[in-house]
Amino acid sequence: MQPSVGNGEPRASAGSDLGVELRYLKGVGPRRAAELERAGLRTCDDLLHRFPIRYEDRSRLVLSSELRPGEAAAVRGQVVSTGMRHTRRRGFSLFEMLARDDAGTFRAVWMNQPYLKTAFSPGQRIQLYGTPEWRDPGGLRLTNPQYELLGAGEGDGDGNEQEAGPEGLHSARVVPVYERTGTLTTKRLRGLVHRAIEQMPADLDDPLPADLRVRRRLPDRRRALRDAHFPPPDTSLSRLNRFRSPAQVRLILEELFLFRLGLQVRVEARTRERKPHTVRVDDRIRRSALAALPFRLTPGQKDALRAIVDDLCRPCPMNRLLQGDVGCGKTIVALLAALVALENGLQVAFMAPTELLAEQHYLTLRPLLARSRFRVVVLTGSHGARARRDTIAALERGDAHLVVGTHALVQQAVEFRALGLAIIDEQHRFGVRQRATLREKGRRPDVLVMTATPIPRSLALTAYGDLDVSVIRDRPPGRTPVDTRIEPESRRDAVHALVDRELRLGRQAYVVYPLVDESDKVDLKAAAVMVDTLARRFPDHAVALLHGRMKSDEREAVMARFARGGVDVLVATTVIEVGVDVPGASVMVVEHAERFGLAQLHQLRGRVGRGSGRAWCRLLYREPLSDVGRARLEAVAGTTDGFELAERDLQLRGPGEVLGTRQSGLPTLRVANLVRDHDIMDVARDEAERALRGGIAADLLARLDAGWRERFGLAGVG
Ligand code: ADP
Ligand code: MG
Repeated sequence: MQPSVGNGEPRASAGSDLGVELRYLKGVGPRRAAELERAGLRTCDDLLHRFPIRYEDRSRLVLSSELRPGEAAAVRGQVVSTGMRHTRRRGFSLFEMLARDDAGTFRAVWMNQPYLKTAFSPGQRIQLYGTPEWRDPGGLRLTNPQYELLGAGEGDGDGNEQEAGPEGLHSARVVPVYERTGTLTTKRLRGLVHRAIEQMPADLDDPLPADLRVRRRLPDRRRALRDAHFPPPDTSLSRLNRFRSPAQVRLILEELFLFRLGLQVRVEARTRERKPHTVRVDDRIRRSALAALPFRLTPGQKDALRAIVDDLCRPCPMNRLLQGDVGCGKTIVALLAALVALENGLQVAFMAPTELLAEQHYLTLRPLLARSRFRVVVLTGSHGARARRDTIAALERGDAHLVVGTHALVQQAVEFRALGLAIIDEQHRFGVRQRATLREKGRRPDVLVMTATPIPRSLALTAYGDLDVSVIRDRPPGRTPVDTRIEPESRRDAVHALVDRELRLGRQAYVVYPLVDESDKVDLKAAAVMVDTLARRFPDHAVALLHGRMKSDEREAVMARFARGGVDVLVATTVIEVGVDVPGASVMVVEHAERFGLAQLHQLRGRVGRGSGRAWCRLLYREPLSDVGRARLEAVAGTTDGFELAERDLQLRGPGEVLGTRQSGLPTLRVANLVRDHDIMDVARDEAERALRGGIAADLLARLDAGWRERFGLAGVG
């Protein structure tokens, strides 16, 4: 059966069986289509891959005489009468219905849903689902039940669509519950999904290899889609709600399998690439590196360096991520790797996310190479046009060897003479774009991406895609962990006393706020207001404000003053999160700590304790604090292990929040959830490897349509 397309238009996207646009679906008018599109739902494929968020068992259909208080049930009948009742409480209304079935009459009440007035009329057949309660006076009634009009025609798509679907679609069964978006209620979505399912072609293409399906006893794609949305009667509700029914498992596996397959094909393609230069390491180079080294490397640093240098010596370009908590010493590892490249006659670009950080790196790196024959230059906007031109010319001639700059370095018109290694620091997006730019420019340098954002192990596999990963888990010796405590706001004075003591000892403090001003509805004490308070509290010290709405040069100026010691207390929003090193700062106060993510708090805390002295972090929270909220904050106070916190953050907030899905280069997964579906990811990986070994990967991927290819980063992969 071919999909019956509303108004005879051709199917929208050939090659994809579910590519029919929703606007061609019966009952979807232009207005509804536009709304669906805004919700990210353009085709049947989109719609059918938006899983229900949960399932409700509404399968118990009873007679009105069988309704019992506290027992959820569905009941069918005919409307006898309806009416609105206004109560004494202002703005509160009750809509009442009396209905009858073969066994007698029953009552239902809806609170504050006056629009129901027009939804029912006497004589109409209805089905209700809810939990009856006993009221005195009044007797048994259903309060706010789910309702469905039976035997009515189809909606027009832009008006009342409650009747969508066949009788009993919304009750008398296990029903899917969808996340509401705008006026797209769960009911409307359910009706649409049902239509989309009815229109699926009988011979729906299945991207999973048949032998995999047989071995793993998985339903075919068509049945899986149907059953995932409208589970057959014998499906276990608890498995459904854990997303482990056979249909759900199949669809999750399908997505993760294709994702892994694409990834593995990409990795293979990369290992076949050849860089235009070769790198060798000999004793002379080892001596040169040792000479630059101001201290002994930790075991973690040594391991990371070894992996990087091995990569440098390979014929295919390096694509490595160096992960390590703030302060673990990634910079020196990067510098030693840079030295290896430099000694091999190659140039190195060292990129930071902000100009300030670039300047800071420059000031760190230059002295370390001062006695070498390599020329270190910096390229940021704060240097005049003349200086920039000279620097760029020197890079093009090859007279400058190591350049420090912002990420814009690769995007700009800099043409290196022999760029061999690109180091991308503190990049949350894992340098995806920078790597792409380098490739577009036809260069194949080795790429080292560094981040202090600890990625939970469960996400690493997916997040990094085709990157190799090194992790530094230890710290340079002699660091005392930041003394972290959580305090209610009522203890702010005591916390300020601690700040005062440190300021008197000549140290500096950060005070962090989640917002900049009070325009937010929530009554947050804004950083802007607090600056005044703090200035009065610490009259002998300079207090400055730093926030995200300042222009970036203003921001950098304030930050630079703080770094030089010209500012003692920096009141800031989260803009200070990344990488800045001010060794004089010994206290960090976080206001409204309950509003931050765990990983974020950990990053913030990493801004202090960078020198050798002791450091303090106080997390102020507003009461009342929920149990979960307290547990979260206590987790931060209880460990200094960023990975452990990242893992907990992930459990509490989900992968999108932890990494910022869009930003992280994570694939857009539609049905799978990286936290929930960890186990299925393992299966997917094994199966993808098997398909690759069996030589069927290319075939499988070639059959995917453009949408899939795009989503799994396969566009442009043969
Ligand atoms: P991050 O990994 O956060 O970028 P940095 O590279 O900035 O950390 O290092 C933090 C501080 O630790 C720097 O001052 C650096 O000089 C110092 N450091 C790094 N490695 C060692 C080591 N092995 N022994 C002693 N100090 C070190
Ligand atoms: Mg760093």
